[in-house]
Amino acid sequence: MSDEIAEIEDLPSPAEPTGRRFGRAVPPRSGGSPAPDRPSPDSGTRAAKTAPIGGVIVCENLVKIYKVADLEVVALQGLDLVVDPGEFVAVVGASGSGKSTLMSILGGLDVPSAGRATVAGHDLGDMGRRERTAYRRNVIGFVWQQTGRNLLAYLTARQNVELPMLLNGVPRGERQRRATDLLGRVGLADRGNHRPERLSGGEQQRTAIAVALANRPAVVFADEPTGELDSATAHEVFELLRTVNQELGVTIVVVTHDPLVSEQVSRTIAIRDGRTSSETLRRSAVNAGGDQHVIAEEYAVLDRVGRLQLPRAHVEALGLERRVRLALESDHISVWPDLDRRNGGEGTGE
Ligand code: ADP
Ligand code: MG
Repeated sequence: MSDEIAEIEDLPSPAEPTGRRFGRAVPPRSGGSPAPDRPSPDSGTRAAKTAPIGGVIVCENLVKIYKVADLEVVALQGLDLVVDPGEFVAVVGASGSGKSTLMSILGGLDVPSAGRATVAGHDLGDMGRRERTAYRRNVIGFVWQQTGRNLLAYLTARQNVELPMLLNGVPRGERQRRATDLLGRVGLADRGNHRPERLSGGEQQRTAIAVALANRPAVVFADEPTGELDSATAHEVFELLRTVNQELGVTIVVVTHDPLVSEQVSRTIAIRDGRTSSETLRRSAVNAGGDQHVIAEEYAVLDRVGRLQLPRAHVEALGLERRVRLALESDHISVWPDLDRRNGGEGTGE
């Protein structure tokens, strides 16, 4: 088996980043500074993953512009996001809103055009090729929507789970122990010797989750991992992600368009036009009758310099336009329509 897998090491990665940078000023790395906390090959990498202040994932004013011939497509336009260690977060948004673009930047597959993204202390806009490979191998795990993209068809489920560890130089005994543990966790203890073609779609995604966890990453990213599954199976796979998050403490960010699924996580981040537009937080509460129920509260996202986007419905309900009047109260801020302007009053400075 080792020989079979060893050959794979020489294959080019299907999603090797191009290293393009669009007009981003990259600060020179000062010679004497220590390398960013890169995980050592087989340490399990826990120590290297202590979160920087402010979250295990921090995106600040992230911009991604795709250039296609002479056209520029702005896929992300100033996105801000902070995810704390151990969180399980869902990202939702209409098709084309920039979810996959965000995931491929966070996954180290593409580089931002501007702004900053850091994951577990790694600056994703400023990684060399080797650091990028190490990042993708050790710091994160990735699960794609397409079941066929997650696994190598000519390896068994167990070999697929062992592969990332093999590439990382994890000794054989340890590799086998971890693979057995992971296959058990994802409910495939007795399916390890099957190749993907003999596994159902749900089983393939379970295996993919085990593969993503193989090198004990700090964060697992999943881009619509249940998109090709029927709803019952999708629910099971999502439950598995939740269990893994709780049992292993790994941070999970999952993109989904399934509103029911997104109701199962404590935080849902909505992306609109390449920006985080709102967040919904859920917590359980007990009502007067003693029944437990879930309270969902929607929050607007406030960026570093204090900008926020008002929900479209609020803006339309009050006919807000161009500018609003703010009043600071003792524990909140009021937002008023600009009545002066609407009534044809003198306004200010016009
Ligand atoms: P989502 O995953 O939310 O559907 P994407 O991140 O895939 O959104 O796409 C965001 C925008 O960027 C869309 O307008 C899409 O057409 C564009 N886009 C995504 N990837 C590329 C690419 N490789 N080249 C050019 N445009 C792209
Ligand atoms: Mg997408």
